[in-house]
Amino acid sequence: MLGYLIGAGIAGGVASAAGYQSMAPTGQWYGKTFTGLERGSKSMALTYDDGPNDPHTLRLLEVLARHEVRATFFMIGRYVEQRPDIVREVVRAGHCAGNHTFSHPLLIFQPEMEIRSQLERCERALADAVGEPAHLFRPPFGGRRPAVLRIARELGLEPVMWNVTGYDWSAPSVEHIERKVAGQVRGGDVVLLHDGGHLAMGADRSRTVTASDRLIARYKAEGREFVTIPEMVQRAERPQLSAVS
Ligand SMILES: [Zn+2]
Repeated sequence: MLGYLIGAGIAGGVASAAGYQSMAPTGQWYGKTFTGLERGSKSMALTYDDGPNDPHTLRLLEVLARHEVRATFFMIGRYVEQRPDIVREVVRAGHCAGNHTFSHPLLIFQPEMEIRSQLERCERALADAVGEPAHLFRPPFGGRRPAVLRIARELGLEPVMWNVTGYDWSAPSVEHIERKVAGQVRGGDVVLLHDGGHLAMGADRSRTVTASDRLIARYKAEGREFVTIPEMVQRAERPQLSAVS
């Protein structure tokens, strides 16, 4: 349990149960957030945060296209403004673009006006890039409190967390990412990976790109089906259909 607490408490200092819940990706005390389907489902959703990123987002798109897999990208608004061309490539390839704030602050420490501004500025950047704003939102570092979820929903954004952490932001090797993911998969998973880095454009995500290639091959061979978050949410709302198919 302690290891899990440390792993989930990315910002550190997670001492109380309330603090744990505000950072833990699957914690539900602060309001319902989507974290995947029921255990045992064959569906798997790959999610990539902190892009768009040059050149790794485009390398990743090549891998996903080769496997005919569609994924969900939670993008940082200021990068979207810098590279709207990459965002357009992501959307053109059939992937889903989500809101990951404008500049990636830890929202549990921000006043409500700033939370709203962060989400709205990212929505505007996405709308300018691809013609429509996002409908999904993932809080930076997974940090949230009731006001974060309320404001997101007021803006028409559904908060999306995850249940499998790739730890790719600090992974020393491709194998390390593969092992971390494989150790957590239990069916119906939302996998957290990164095509960018929140500190600056250009973060090296080559290991994530290669790990994605191998993970897709491995889980396709096991009969799993890769879906976007909207597709997964739809299945969650119609469990009787996903159960018989
Ligand atoms: Zn992030």
